[in-house]
Amino acid sequence: MSESRDYDVIIVGAGPAGMTAAMYAGRSMLKTVVLERGASGGELLNTEIIEDYPGFEHIEGWELAQKFESHAKKFGAEFQQETVITLEKMPDGAFQATTDSGTIYRSKVAIITSGGTPIKLGVPGEIEYAGKGVSYCAICDGAFFRGHTIAVIGGGDAAVEEADFLTRYAEKVYLIHRRDEFRASKILQKRLFENPKIEVIWNTLVDEVQADAQGLVHNLVLRDANTHETRNLAATGIFIFIGFRPNTGIIEGHADHDEMGYLRTDMNMETSIKGLFAAGDVRVQLTRQVTTAAGDGTTAAIAAEKYLAAMRSPSDEPVISGSGGYAV
Ligand code: NAP
Repeated sequence: MSESRDYDVIIVGAGPAGMTAAMYAGRSMLKTVVLERGASGGELLNTEIIEDYPGFEHIEGWELAQKFESHAKKFGAEFQQETVITLEKMPDGAFQATTDSGTIYRSKVAIITSGGTPIKLGVPGEIEYAGKGVSYCAICDGAFFRGHTIAVIGGGDAAVEEADFLTRYAEKVYLIHRRDEFRASKILQKRLFENPKIEVIWNTLVDEVQADAQGLVHNLVLRDANTHETRNLAATGIFIFIGFRPNTGIIEGHADHDEMGYLRTDMNMETSIKGLFAAGDVRVQLTRQVTTAAGDGTTAAIAAEKYLAAMRSPSDEPVISGSGGYAV
């Protein structure tokens, strides 16, 4: 028979949003569990150096992840390495997370902070040299490529916009696209074509990312999509923007989301399902940074605490909206 454990709050995903929510839930004296399939950190673990988290001018991604985790644990949050298969609201109003270990976690509220995953090219060297020249985030990593020659892959809004952004740092940016026209909006294309630091390489695919003896990216093997001829391109960075998928499979089809699958929330981070909050990269928002994830996690945990308080005293006026409250 499967084991069942009860909590006040289940948090799915231990990235910056989930761990911040866990810290605040713990400070509110809520019995909190964070369920994470891998190591805590989320996208922090794919980022070598963080230099845009206030108070930390320069910190390695894994180290900041550890600090987030130990901070949440200090306030009583429990972390369990579990792969959540489904997260459901049951007929009795409780949330139930079913995991592949067979353990069932039940709670009164749930916060989904499962992030998103950049779509991968799937070529040799891509995963191996992630953080060593391969990146999926221009804002996070652009500054490490001051004066470098780099490549951006893709032809959508993200690739075209980020190629332009990266010329703030890079000396030369090659934008490599598999077709002979972009799907990006015309205004972004105009900006791109006017930028003298950018050269577009059309009808071209990346076959391999190669590194030097130190394990740092120094060459890309390119293939012409029409002739299949291959050639080398010297580049010390490759930024891949071929799409991003929010990790919402565990609540597939249940909560309101946009056309890309990102969850819609209100200002309290509550989804269309009462008592289910969402924070960080998994939700619809302008930008996806460590700071915004931490902010979302804070709001979600405080709103969840107020939601629980309202459940305990149903006659009370709802206290969630616009109260600007602080945890104790
Ligand atoms: P996207 O629009 O899906 O574009 C992905 C691009 O990657 C396409 O050009 C596609 O080529 C290419 N691609 C896909 N798989 C590939 C592969 N295996 N190898 C090489 N190239 C590949 O994704 P996105 O640019 O991330 O944008 C996602 C959404 O966010 C869009 O709705 C976009 O409008 C929005 N967005 C908006 C802004 C903005 O308005 N400022 C900025 C960023 C994103 P094909 O064209 O040949 O299919």
